[in-house]
Amino acid sequence: SEKIKMTNPIVELDGDEMTRIIWQMIKEMLIEPFVDLNTEYYDLGLKNRNLTDDQVTIDAAYAIKKHKVGVKCATITPNAQRVEEYNLKKMWKSPNGTIRAILDGTVFRTPILINGIKPLVKSWTKPITIARHAYGDVYKDVEYRLEKAAKAELVVTYKDGDVERQTIHEFDGPGILIGMHNIDKSIKSFAKACFNYALSQKQDLWFATKDTISKVYDHTFKDIFNDMYENEYKDKFNEAGIEYFYTLIDDAVARVIRSEGGMIWALKNYDGDVMSDMVATAFGSLAMMTSVLVSPEGDFEYEAAHGTVTRHYYKYLKGEETSTNPIATIFAWTGALKKRGELDNNKHLMKFAEKLEEASLKTIEDGIMTKDLAAISELPNKKPVNTKEFLNEIKNNLEKII
Ligand code: NAD
Repeated sequence: SEKIKMTNPIVELDGDEMTRIIWQMIKEMLIEPFVDLNTEYYDLGLKNRNLTDDQVTIDAAYAIKKHKVGVKCATITPNAQRVEEYNLKKMWKSPNGTIRAILDGTVFRTPILINGIKPLVKSWTKPITIARHAYGDVYKDVEYRLEKAAKAELVVTYKDGDVERQTIHEFDGPGILIGMHNIDKSIKSFAKACFNYALSQKQDLWFATKDTISKVYDHTFKDIFNDMYENEYKDKFNEAGIEYFYTLIDDAVARVIRSEGGMIWALKNYDGDVMSDMVATAFGSLAMMTSVLVSPEGDFEYEAAHGTVTRHYYKYLKGEETSTNPIATIFAWTGALKKRGELDNNKHLMKFAEKLEEASLKTIEDGIMTKDLAAISELPNKKPVNTKEFLNEIKNNLEKII
């Protein structure tokens, strides 16, 4: 039968180590036999980032701005050890950080639920998506320790020369101080990405801060979200039959634990850092967590939430078998294919992506899975397999479904 055609390309960002190996296998075994795959390829493997002085990362980000849909393989963020291992010219910055800054994007992380692996929170029957604001607060703070009695002040010097000062605290002895900031523009981009993503997923959006205590700082987040909702999104949300819900962070935590899931939960930078790890752990596995970067303009970059699985790669290099879980990377591809299909009004492409997801989950629910899942699945007849066998089984199921 004919392969499915694509009018516009998906921007393909290749990566590193074990996920780079799996990337190729997924394309060759699960996508290219069925789809006339149209991608604009950027090699973000560390070797090529070093060779291009990281220009390839910047080019890839602008390509996503142009074509609106990207899919990214996990990449190494270099540290001192990697600089030595790859003989790097520089300790290049995190590609995800670079791309996020260019797209001004927000990251949404969603677990993939399957039969046989129950979330630790019994009431959660639908995935919870976490949206974390990725600018400022404690991550761009100024901290100070004072060792003797002192008066600490908050001083603001305006460009026109005006000066405002407030006393923070009169210290009798040693103590500590922190200065944090955020900017309206970044909070607005965050809010916009959240409202747009809720609409595209047709899911409720929750947002929470500590505005009762932080009457200016956190309250500004609350106000920006609220104003944008009232002015730009209220009608669209009503039409879509979804809700925007604001509550205090402590109330939100209590409600989320008692909920059945199924919402998008937007959080400030630190809250999102903490809550995303809690939610991921409760849902079972990092290898089953997908992630999408969404810009306020509606550009989408899909990826797995996990890293390059270095430990497995070193085994692979020694010729040993590995049982690396490819599910989150497959779902990065299906997310991108579905979005490309949606934007281009390509029903065949969307259907194919859905079938590939179905075949992947069916394989696991039939008991055939990678070792990491076999270790936590409650299914009675589990058969742990290596990555290649697992992908082959998915391919068999996919052919049957198609
Ligand atoms: P990792 O996600 O690669 O591994 C963390 C742990 O989870 C390991 O024990 C690993 O065995 C397990 N694991 C993760 N994904 C798995 C899968 N698909 N199947 C089976 N087991 C899986 O994170 P790490 O070890 O902290 O980092 C390795 C490299 O990945 C680093 O160089 C880091 O910079 C990079 N990294 C990249 C991204 C990204 O590109 N988005 C995210 C995180 C880490």
